[in-house]
Amino acid sequence: MTKLAVVGAGVGGLSAAIYLQAAGYQVDLFEKNSYIGGKMGRIDTGKYRFDVGPTIVMMPEIYRQVFSDSGVNPDDYFQMSRLNPFMDVYLAGKKDRPLSSDLVDITKTYEGVSSQDMAGFLAYLSDIYQRYDLAKDHFIARSFRSPWDFWNPKTLIQAFRLKTFSSSYQSLKKYLESEDLVKLLAFQTLYIGISPFNGPSIYNIIPMIELLYGVWYIQGGMYSYAQALERRFKELGGQIHLNTAIESVTFTNKNADGVMIGGVKHDYDAVVMNADFPYAMNHLIPDKAGVKPRRYQVEKINQMDYAISCMVIYLGLDRQYEHLNVHNLRMAEDFFKNIDELEKGILPDDPSFYAYYPSKIDDSMAPNGHSSLYVLAPVPNLKDFDDWNEQQTKDFIQKVFSRLASELDLPDLLEHIDYQQIYTPNDFKSEFNSAYGATFGLKPTLLQSNYFRPHNKYPYAQKLYFAGASAHPGAGVPIVLTSGELAAKEVMRDLPLPAGKSRSLSE
Ligand SMILES: Cc1cc2nc3c(=O)[nH]c(=O)nc-3n(C[C@H](O)[C@H](O)[C@H](O)COP(=O)(O)OP(=O)(O)OC[C@H]3O[C@@H](n4cnc5c(N)ncnc54)[C@H](O)[C@@H]3O)c2cc1C
Repeated sequence: MTKLAVVGAGVGGLSAAIYLQAAGYQVDLFEKNSYIGGKMGRIDTGKYRFDVGPTIVMMPEIYRQVFSDSGVNPDDYFQMSRLNPFMDVYLAGKKDRPLSSDLVDITKTYEGVSSQDMAGFLAYLSDIYQRYDLAKDHFIARSFRSPWDFWNPKTLIQAFRLKTFSSSYQSLKKYLESEDLVKLLAFQTLYIGISPFNGPSIYNIIPMIELLYGVWYIQGGMYSYAQALERRFKELGGQIHLNTAIESVTFTNKNADGVMIGGVKHDYDAVVMNADFPYAMNHLIPDKAGVKPRRYQVEKINQMDYAISCMVIYLGLDRQYEHLNVHNLRMAEDFFKNIDELEKGILPDDPSFYAYYPSKIDDSMAPNGHSSLYVLAPVPNLKDFDDWNEQQTKDFIQKVFSRLASELDLPDLLEHIDYQQIYTPNDFKSEFNSAYGATFGLKPTLLQSNYFRPHNKYPYAQKLYFAGASAHPGAGVPIVLTSGELAAKEVMRDLPLPAGKSRSLSE
């Protein structure tokens, strides 16, 4: 029996583990925490429930695919419903307009500004859809193993056709005159922790995906999805070991052949690493194994670019607010300055934030008459700002609370807080071993994307694979699910199962 270790039960680890177990390998999944899901965790107070990290469900087919590929009907594991309008936006201190993926609503919004902007919007959609179509087959849903997988004329031509050299913001400005409309399509790069003002324009696919494939809600919150993945893995015969931190990966002649737990070596035929790539390189892959080239030694790893992080406030409230949508976004008065500060390591004076209110449509998130509110403010990662002392944290939260009160029309919010919990980048670092508390991992700059992002098959040793937000193809739940699938398929290429041992997987 070919035995595999998967390190980390985040979305990437769970996805890889299901693909591998379904294919016929025996998989042990190790997680340092007492729960599965990683950042897709849940705070459960017994009264209130909160999703710890991800909340916005996009690309629903990818959520379903890991189940259908492993031979079951996803509808038997989790329930999704579409949200529309999918987000309320607050601009310039007041409620602006709801974002809708209905063409009639969109036309009203854009024509309401000008017919040129409507025409510009349609041109943007057509252009970005073609680039998305190229990117998904040539760069997202495939892994890069050897330099020739990228440095060949066909792929280079496709890379050129992606036209990704301008920033998201510059690219949108070519289509739209209205600054407000540009902002409504630009802020989404923050979903992967990069500024729209210098992030590659290919990330304008994110608002397109919201509009063309919808924004969805998973009943019970995101953690129900992590539980569904766990259930599927166990049904297939996989083993989960919670509260089990891996101390290092072991190597013999540059072949990964086990993991160290409590000072004892456990033998495996291969290792799939879901712990954050930079953390894993610095802490779990020993220097003495001779498998780290200069570019992956501590100093260089620390010099890599890390994504913008976030602070999240989780509030259990003893009342409900009818006027809030499930997803609500408040943009700073000077959005450019706000984003610039995040990248320069300054805690914004006028923070943008996103408020998630799932109990509006899901009774399992709070008791009758109560509600649960999650407020996420983008903040610098710990490499750029690490002074989260008590006063600093308090002052920043105060800035968020005062804007929630005045702009989101929650004047009595403070009087109704029944439960409060805060996660700063330090918590994301300690809870999930995320390097520099960067909640979205390595920043997806051009030089840290596609072929240039850490590969799913590690190039400098055999039998070591990476799945997760800092590996290819990148951050965000559907993309990390894909990362798990790609890593699993790389394992299958290297360690084919003997005939009769493998189960067929849907390609
Ligand atoms: C606040 C926040 C909001 C977000 N919002 C969205 C959203 O709305 N939509 C969306 O699609 N995405 C969102 N994301 C991004 C998305 O959640 C992540 O990209 C994704 O969950 C990352 O999964 P992962 O498997 O790469 O990493 P992780 O979830 O970090 O999993 C890695 C796992 O490895 C474990 N581990 C680490 N070291 C060890 C060790 N030594 N031994 C054993 N286990 C170890 C960790 O404990 C963890 O469980 C959000 C993220 C955050 C933090």
